[in-house]
Amino acid sequence: MKILGLHHITAMAGDVAANVQFYTQVLGLRLIKRTVNFDDPSTYHLYFGDTVGTPGSALTFFYWAGQPRGRPGPGQATDTAWSVPASSLDFWRERLASRGLEFAEERRFGDTVLRFSDPDGLGLEIVATSEADPRQPWAHPEVPVAHGLRGFHSTTLTHADSARTARLLVDIMGWREIAREPASGGGERVRYAAGAGGPGAYVDLVSAPEAPRGRPGAGTVHHVAFRVADDAEEIVALAEWRAAGLQPSPQVDRNYFHSIYAREPGGVLFEIATDQPGFLIDETRESLGSRLLLPPQYEPHRAAIEARLDPLPV
Ligand code: ZN
Repeated sequence: MKILGLHHITAMAGDVAANVQFYTQVLGLRLIKRTVNFDDPSTYHLYFGDTVGTPGSALTFFYWAGQPRGRPGPGQATDTAWSVPASSLDFWRERLASRGLEFAEERRFGDTVLRFSDPDGLGLEIVATSEADPRQPWAHPEVPVAHGLRGFHSTTLTHADSARTARLLVDIMGWREIAREPASGGGERVRYAAGAGGPGAYVDLVSAPEAPRGRPGAGTVHHVAFRVADDAEEIVALAEWRAAGLQPSPQVDRNYFHSIYAREPGGVLFEIATDQPGFLIDETRESLGSRLLLPPQYEPHRAAIEARLDPLPV
């Protein structure tokens, strides 16, 4: 199958206002789509990304106010990393510090990585990389384009034992190992690249055999979605996942992309999503994220749905 890189990552959050404030005001991302959880229209499903939600830039959230936090650990995508130029490192050190955010720094494959958490404890990273990354970030009043988050750099999947997941990535999904080094928390970090590689097309596998298994909840990733170009590529991927012994879902229409899902052997829910049709299918570039969009089955109930949703701080 022809995986091009990361498509989107979906995580779980508690308080929607704190979440929106953090991603739009602190990290300077654009709220590109506001809709509801299609399985529970009393809660939001929000998407944050670059100007148009380019594949590889969108972090999306489901919300469960008042639910207990999850616990990051083996069986999860534990860290979501964004790419910025190496020259933006000081900007982000100062910005995180000025917002009272605690962060740690580490060196990883030659780049400096800032590690911190969102208001629900979700593991986030900014990778200040010397690799070329021509992607254009959203122009935020406080985050100049020169320093803006370009999109995802990578995701780190943590397992008690990464071997079966590594085989799925390499033997079935076309990723290739490009580097390995000791992981900061012990064990080994192995980096895989898809397609042409580069920021947005990396997955890191870390083995943590001693850590307690992760528990889902607010502050944890729900699933990681990988890019394919179109429906034809997705049908190929579906057949190859089946042939490999996974139990994928049928293709699902997510309005902005078409998706298949399967749980990988290490426990992380994988999705494969098409680049087409994208987030401009129902809004203009200028108006993205400015109003609540509902799937057709909920449109007749718009007034009742809107009345139950909290206003957003945007
Ligand atoms: Zn998804």
